Amino acid sequence: MTKYYSAKEMLAKLVSFDTVSRNSNIPLIEFVENYLNSHGVASHRVQNSDGTKTNLWATIGPDTDGGVILSGHTDVVPVDGQPWDTDPFEVVEKEGLLYGRGTADMKAFSAIALSLVPEMINAKMKRPIHLALSYDEEIGCLGAPSMIEDMAPKVKAEAVIVGEPTMMKVVSGHKGALGLTTRVRGFEVHSSLVHTGVSAVHVAAKLVVWHEQKMLENKARTENLSENALFNPPYTTLHCGVIEGGTAHNITAKDCSFSSDFRTLPSENPMDYLDAYRAYAKELEAEMQRVAPSAKIEIDVRGNVPGCRREVDGSAERLVRQITGDNAEHVVSYGTEAGQFQDGGYSTIVCGPGDIAQAHAANEYLSVEQLNAGVDFQRRLIERLAS
Ligand SMILES: [Zn+2]
Repeated sequence: MTKYYSAKEMLAKLVSFDTVSRNSNIPLIEFVENYLNSHGVASHRVQNSDGTKTNLWATIGPDTDGGVILSGHTDVVPVDGQPWDTDPFEVVEKEGLLYGRGTADMKAFSAIALSLVPEMINAKMKRPIHLALSYDEEIGCLGAPSMIEDMAPKVKAEAVIVGEPTMMKVVSGHKGALGLTTRVRGFEVHSSLVHTGVSAVHVAAKLVVWHEQKMLENKARTENLSENALFNPPYTTLHCGVIEGGTAHNITAKDCSFSSDFRTLPSENPMDYLDAYRAYAKELEAEMQRVAPSAKIEIDVRGNVPGCRREVDGSAERLVRQITGDNAEHVVSYGTEAGQFQDGGYSTIVCGPGDIAQAHAANEYLSVEQLNAGVDFQRRLIERLAS
């Protein structure tokens, strides 16, 4: 049965699915599939390896090049331990604000697009709108790459709009984030005989200090370059947030592990940092193995979200600036799927309703005003694609 939803009703529907990243998003996707189907729109799933989560993409309008991809993630962050005043999985409206998990980050953008599907169809657009809904964005942008790989040969689009909350401002850049876990295996001896052992704690400390030194070098090297001026801070940062190791003050530690991340300027390649880090670890490992051949250092990549690069005369930026009238320069400090779409060959921009300040927090909300601004934006986009 064909059903119609206002943007607000569709938002309430999407929020009602508990798509915290640890859960399956398939109930939400099934709803979207059925809804699109009822309007005669076919969609394509791109699932994860065990079939518990899936991306979904669909094309509305003609099968031609030059359309626009609207990108949104379906997952949300947990509500555990947060003092919510209302049920987080129900949209509650109070004084012009729509409360609920995912209202700002970022079910509204997708809800608006879905609610406008009947208008997209009626507009007889000359170029299509593609919807691209991903999973597992919140735990390291894990879902989108396989969807982009599936779409790239079939969908030649003029622009990708990633609808993360920017208050409908045109955001053309953000840093990348490379997450690492480093495990150091030392060799245990009594600390009075420290020269016959290998302390994993001491080696890990050197590796952590490498992060700090690299960051200070970066600060000196790039903080005054005008191209970085919008970023805060205007250089690539390297930071270790958790460390664990050792069993007693008088035993050289057998194990020490820590997790860290590199937040790279979009103009820099995170892999260059990783190569330099691995090379330094190799040097340390050779020293360790001269004392104890079993000693080693393992470095695992937990996640790699590429930065969003400012494009030179990018078609996505041009399109969205024309529609919004926003000609100011904006960058954001959070990661998105934008760099992944750029890596897939698409001109990409970040622009969506709501404020990142409300994202991930208790009592997350989207103002009705921002919802309406998002609807206006997408209606103008439909008009352009129809003209
Ligand atoms: Zn988000």
